[in-house]
Amino acid sequence: MPTPHLPPSHTAAQDCDTPEPAWSGWRGPALVALIVFSFALLGILSRPLNFTSALWPANPVLAGLMLRHPHLASSPLAWVGAGIGFVTADMFTGSQWLSTLWFTAANLVSSAVCCMILLHTDAATRRMQSQHSVLILFVAVLAAACASALVAGGTGPVLFQADLWVSLSMWFSGELQSNMLILPVLLALPRCRAFDLSVCIPARALRRLGVQAAPLAAVIASTAAALEVGGADSLPVVIPALLWCAISYRFLSTAILCLVVCLILTAEIAMGSFQFTPQFWSSALSLRVGITLLALGPLAMACNRQAHQRAMAQLDHTIRHDFLTGLLSRNAFFQQAQQHMEGLSARQAPVAMLVLDLDHFKHINDSLGHAAGDAVLRQFARITQACLGPNEPMGRLGGEEFLVLLPHVSQIQAQAAAQRLCHVVRTHRFALQSQQPLRVTVSIGLAYCHRSPAANAIDALIHSADLQLYQAKQSGRDRVVAGLHGEADAMPSHLEHRRHATSPR
Ligand code: GH3
Ligand code: MG
Ligand code: MG
Repeated sequence: MPTPHLPPSHTAAQDCDTPEPAWSGWRGPALVALIVFSFALLGILSRPLNFTSALWPANPVLAGLMLRHPHLASSPLAWVGAGIGFVTADMFTGSQWLSTLWFTAANLVSSAVCCMILLHTDAATRRMQSQHSVLILFVAVLAAACASALVAGGTGPVLFQADLWVSLSMWFSGELQSNMLILPVLLALPRCRAFDLSVCIPARALRRLGVQAAPLAAVIASTAAALEVGGADSLPVVIPALLWCAISYRFLSTAILCLVVCLILTAEIAMGSFQFTPQFWSSALSLRVGITLLALGPLAMACNRQAHQRAMAQLDHTIRHDFLTGLLSRNAFFQQAQQHMEGLSARQAPVAMLVLDLDHFKHINDSLGHAAGDAVLRQFARITQACLGPNEPMGRLGGEEFLVLLPHVSQIQAQAAAQRLCHVVRTHRFALQSQQPLRVTVSIGLAYCHRSPAANAIDALIHSADLQLYQAKQSGRDRVVAGLHGEADAMPSHLEHRRHATSPR
């Protein structure tokens, strides 16, 4: 099963806590008011006469906004904006003042409780990226549903001649279902920096979401079967297909599918046998709780799996990269270089191996300290790697020694690339904390092959380059010395770039 590409989790944490310009200042509360108004209106339109809506998206949308933009959650103005959104939507549709204010209070309490709990967790948990995100979300949604039911429970007996228990259960189950289906999607959505129209092309959108055909087809087929069976008994029919999605797709794709499937089933069951009115309160309660629990399994599994994959990807990255410079580790470099050489030797294409060694590096450590030496290594890696192409791997062999593989280069190109590296290091001013910028030089040994040897000859190729490096050190440092690998003669002397060795200070 292919592993979907996962973005690194640190970006999610940054995404979550950095206020976006569009949401700062007065624009934040105004946008909150507008969005809440729109979704409240949508909910009211799906509300049967005189009672609660089949689905109430405004509360999870408000909570999602606050959780994705935490600076809004601590802004009283944003909450006032949300209140205005709820009130105007209700007044717009001709509700009474008392019910409007009462419902608005219950709605605000629902979102506030959800935010209060989830804002105590870290950004990765809120973005559905940690192992227990879904379970923590479930606890928050449960608490929000209880709190809003307690606030709104009185509306039943006072405004609708319904029992207190009926009113409590309708509010509780409605909030539970709406929040648990909609919030995971909103929290897992990637941040839109610039809207990319290509996401509107269905095939591309599905590819981006990492959606393979078979589990999706199973969901469609099982949903159709559930609709055919009909009634609340049909709910479990879709569980295996949703679980298949959970182990195949990214969390966001699974959350979207759960939302769509659950909405279809809710609509079908509700249209067939009952409505969301006090008369059918027990059916509505069991249907909504059943649907919430149905979604919980696939969501928790998808979240857990994605967190596990992310951890594995981070572990893999750590193993494959040098912790100090971020370059390829020795092993990873060997792997990549051998892969290149396999292809190159099959095509009898040329290759060059460079061994780079910083000059008088021990002196830097001895005179300026180990931390300064580390800073030089980091900057050296950054400026040299910037000179290389994506197919020119660079790795840290150890200490202050590095390897670069240049595939498909002519002898002249390889020499020019090595000299460019020498020049870049020589002219760079290495910035050190509370110290004068430092000048550093590097010596480079280059082994060139007109036809790449087989991958298993990589050690011999590096050894050849190492011999040239020795010559570069012997002849004064800060230079490139090149030789032909497997051939006795060194490269023509005009290709050897000579300079006086410079002091590292
Ligand atoms: P030459 O010009 O002949 O290469 O001399 P050199 O001083 O660069 O070479 P030498 O092999 O004598 O010293 C290398 C030094 O690199 C010794 C070691 O302490 C230092 N070194 C190795 N790894 C690290 C590291 O990760 N950080 C720092 N700061 N120093 C390191
Ligand atoms: Mg060395
Ligand atoms: Mg050295």
